Amino acid sequence: MHLVLAGAGHAHLEVLRHFARSPPDAGPARLTLVTPEATAIYSGAVPGVVAGLLPPTAAEIPLAPLLSDAGAEWIEDRVTGLDAGRRLLRLGRNPPLPYDLLSLDTGALPVTPPGTVPVRPWRGLFAALAALDPAAGRVAVIGAGAAGTELALALARRPGPRPLLLEAMPDVLPGLPAPFRARAERALRLAGVSWRTDFPVERLDDGALHGPESRMGQVALAIACTGTRPALDLRDSGLACDAAGFPRMDAALRSQSHHDVFGAGDGVAAGLPKAGVWAVRAGPVLADNLSRALLGEPLRPWEPQRQALILLGTGRGEAIGLWRGISFEGAWAWRWKRWLDGRFVRRYAGTGEG
Ligand SMILES: Cc1cc2nc3c(=O)[nH]c(=O)nc-3n(C[C@H](O)[C@H](O)[C@H](O)COP(=O)(O)OP(=O)(O)OC[C@H]3O[C@@H](n4cnc5c(N)ncnc54)[C@H](O)[C@@H]3O)c2cc1C
Repeated sequence: MHLVLAGAGHAHLEVLRHFARSPPDAGPARLTLVTPEATAIYSGAVPGVVAGLLPPTAAEIPLAPLLSDAGAEWIEDRVTGLDAGRRLLRLGRNPPLPYDLLSLDTGALPVTPPGTVPVRPWRGLFAALAALDPAAGRVAVIGAGAAGTELALALARRPGPRPLLLEAMPDVLPGLPAPFRARAERALRLAGVSWRTDFPVERLDDGALHGPESRMGQVALAIACTGTRPALDLRDSGLACDAAGFPRMDAALRSQSHHDVFGAGDGVAAGLPKAGVWAVRAGPVLADNLSRALLGEPLRPWEPQRQALILLGTGRGEAIGLWRGISFEGAWAWRWKRWLDGRFVRRYAGTGEG
């Protein structure tokens, strides 16, 4: 059996680790990972890197040791399409790749207004920040969800004018409890980040961000942290997809239409919010069910715990948190976040932690 993993997302790191630890007869005869980068990036640590509080390596997971331990082959390429009926993956620069079993973890990308830079792929974000002339104007972050707010706080640590945070909804951190939002607004104020709500950005043009009724000028770079669309377009693949084009998975993380396709993370519709924590938690279930599918055993349905911890670094050595509706903040919360993020990276970067 040839198992192909598309994308080095968080869940697939666990799949590789799982097969590295499994007895040889429990794994696939051939295991292939298709992903364009030699390093996976752990997003939880990215704001700390952008703020200069953490070295770039704090967010990097080199794939070579994981691939070698799992006996997997790496195809350095992008998946560009899928013919699920013929079990063929289309690749950017390589011939089509046949599979017996396929797992998808290619993540999602922001919806990007013209002229703005998407927060991911990360390589584009890091290049845009490296090329930025601080004298050229402000950096604007579009989308004040958890990721956008934390990124704006991180950017405030960098040289140059204070960043700007824009949100289409009436509040920053829309949908999160008011006490948590109040803590975040205080942190934004302390960091000198100005924000504007009810401002759906339409485009960045000539140094100005345009909304339906007004514009905001002196913007050198606008980073989009808004909405999600699949990183891999699977609408013509034959897989059952939701209205936004995300392939629908069942409770066992198997495609609702094709029994030889599995998937997890932001790139699939599995009835979960789009956040790394769910991709991480899905990892062991996905790995176990891929093993079961290889062995022809019944799959194990997943009933995810619905609570997730949110920790946002303020860029000042503190973090704001939310757990079961209770908000909190402090330097201890930042140390906790660093420990959790570091543990994840160490687990997959081959530095030993189980
Ligand atoms: C600044 C920021 C901070 C965040 N912080 C947190 C946090 O603290 N906690 C949290 O829960 N969530 C956080 N998130 C959200 C989190 O990043 C995502 O939910 C998470 O990365 C989704 O994981 P994933 O496994 O679905 O895919 P990803 O991590 O996006 O990985 C997808 C992989 O697939 C590869 N890929 C993409 N397209 C293709 C293709 N066509 N062919 C082959 N490979 C492809 C990519 O290169 C990548 O390796 C943050 C997001 C941002 C932007």
